[in-house]
Amino acid sequence: MTVTTPASVDWDAFTHALDGIEVIRDLAQVTKLSKDYYTYSPILVAQLDDKVGDVVVRPNSEAEVLKVAKLCVQQRIPLTVRGAGTGNYGQCIPLRGGVILDLSKMQAVKWIKPGAVCVEPGAKLIAIDKQTRDIGWELRMAPSTYRTATIGGFMSGGSGGIGSITYGQLRDRGNLNAVRVVTMEDEPRVIELRGDSVHKVTHAYGTNGIITELEVPLGPAYPWADIIVTFDDFMTAARFGQALGESDGIIKKLVCICADPIPGYFAPFRNVISVGKHCALVMIAEPSLEPFGELVKEFGGEVCHHKPAQDAGKGSMLMEYTWNHTTLHARSVDPSLTYLQTLFPYDAELKLLEHMYQHYGDEAMMHVEFIRVAGKVSPAALQIVRYSTPERLNEIIKYHEAQGAFIANPHTYILEDGGRKTIDPVQLAFKEQVDPYGLLNPGKMKAWDMR
Ligand code: FAD
Repeated sequence: MTVTTPASVDWDAFTHALDGIEVIRDLAQVTKLSKDYYTYSPILVAQLDDKVGDVVVRPNSEAEVLKVAKLCVQQRIPLTVRGAGTGNYGQCIPLRGGVILDLSKMQAVKWIKPGAVCVEPGAKLIAIDKQTRDIGWELRMAPSTYRTATIGGFMSGGSGGIGSITYGQLRDRGNLNAVRVVTMEDEPRVIELRGDSVHKVTHAYGTNGIITELEVPLGPAYPWADIIVTFDDFMTAARFGQALGESDGIIKKLVCICADPIPGYFAPFRNVISVGKHCALVMIAEPSLEPFGELVKEFGGEVCHHKPAQDAGKGSMLMEYTWNHTTLHARSVDPSLTYLQTLFPYDAELKLLEHMYQHYGDEAMMHVEFIRVAGKVSPAALQIVRYSTPERLNEIIKYHEAQGAFIANPHTYILEDGGRKTIDPVQLAFKEQVDPYGLLNPGKMKAWDMR
């Protein structure tokens, strides 16, 4: 079923019926709040530039979300949820107009106990940690958009990030305890999902439920030092990353490796990282600094930047040069650059990574984040690509796939064409149950449109 906003919606009456819930109708603001960071992809720019919602609604509570849901169902108006709008694939861009449900006002931290926190979806990750650190705990993982992203958006659109070297990815069992979800049925209701059932809605781009509360597990909060280590050649840097990932006795939160010339894009570190060097950007628990120093020595690395945990609030945060922030800094120098997301199969010798590094050279500059995948340390690359044509980009993707690397394509807004690759029957079945009119973020779940 194709859902488009009925031309007959009386937006004055709609606003009136919401009775005090904030509704934004100013075109400039609605346009701004209809967008995310899709501009990293020249393919998505062409497809999404003209997509915009009709109104933005900002509820304060779950009760208000229920009210908005009911009105949208009654009038068959599409509804697209928005957290902070930092997604990269146009996930929160409405393809068929309608309501943008901006949850940024729902940011309460409801309770904290050792090892878990319960929050509203609009809570920013940094704000959650600020409170949980008071009792010695912190979020297990965060995207590099830690300062701006919301927890609801991270669970619905993200995959992992700083912390994934220890805890794996968001979809790994145990990385989300429970959610409350508002449905889009004739009589919207709240469903609580716990344990494995949470994955009915995680990373579903808000196509099958509006998450209104999350119970998130935490990890111990260490004093983290930001460190940059340089190396003369890329593969030594990469092998250092693999070894650090596998050093179970060294407590770390981030292992990012950037090939030359990527460090040249990092303005504050231009005088710190010597020209021509390859580097590792890492976060290490301060009690582990001594064994970490020994590992650096073993690989012939040189520490050129060390910010102790007590200075965390001062100057640049190293994490904001890693994950997709690496691409951001490169694009701020050269906006024609784009990127890829690649998971290399586990191989302690990093042979395929080395092959791709040699094969593409400067066309796909190698940036690797080491993460834990099913208990093993593997390189996940966010290569910075010198874009020429869609055909060439596709050729690069196909070559990686043919060699056995997994590409989570960041140049599509379709759920199943990105990282998932296959239709998730559980998510589809849940959508059939809770969104029978297909009003939630229409056009993003291929499985629904193909039925
Ligand atoms: P939004 O972009 O607002 O939403 C994301 C998706 O979730 C949308 O489909 C939206 O409809 C849906 N959604 C939002 N809230 C809800 C809800 N309550 N219920 C149901 N659906 C909802 N991602 C990573 O995983 N790791 C990274 O390290 C990372 N680094 C990034 C670096 C940069 C510079 C940029 C621009 C992006 C990066 N991202 C990364 C992508 C993005 O920042 C994160 O995934 C972030 O967590 C998204 O949160 P948000 O609040 O901005 O979500």
